[in-house]
Amino acid sequence: MQDKVEVTKGDITRMKVDAIVNAANSSLMGGGGVDGAIHRAGGPAILEECKKIVARQGGCKTGEAVITTAGNLPAKFVIHTVGPVWNGGNRNERILLANAYRNSLQLAVDNNCKTVAFPAISTGVYGFPKAAAATIAVQAVNEFLANERAIDKVIFVCFDEENFRLIQSEVQKISS
Ligand code: ADP
Repeated sequence: MQDKVEVTKGDITRMKVDAIVNAANSSLMGGGGVDGAIHRAGGPAILEECKKIVARQGGCKTGEAVITTAGNLPAKFVIHTVGPVWNGGNRNERILLANAYRNSLQLAVDNNCKTVAFPAISTGVYGFPKAAAATIAVQAVNEFLANERAIDKVIFVCFDEENFRLIQSEVQKISS
């Protein structure tokens, strides 16, 4: 029974939650897709903090996550995680994708965030098959929530109809 997970369609930059998650790349220097949308809408303060993180630790590895201000966005923080590039499925992609969700949620807990919104990590230019990504995303979040009470709500914000349908169907499985 999982009533802490929601699915919605739309633009993650509009979400008024404690933290939105960015599907970043390991350089943390911005990019296309949801990454570009977050930096555009949030303004330069986000990139400034990303640069400081890069100076300190040299970017962000695949499956890991870092946190910055959300700048002008309605959210309080942006958690930048790096999903795996899909390379056929034999390069640890599934585990790395689950790690991206888990490590983002752990960082949210560490920063007292109770509400977190995710995009469908790796399903854009990184090419992860959407159905498999939906299963992994919902499973990873569900498992995390089962062990960690500090998070009140996780919202999957889907930009496209296909991800919305797939993720909603996975969420229904864990809710019934
Ligand atoms: P990745 O490199 O991890 O594949 P992308 O940004 O290319 O990241 O795509 C990840 C997902 O984010 C895709 O499903 C894409 O449709 C979606 N997306 C793009 N813009 C937004 C947005 N503004 N809000 C929510 N999701 C978005």
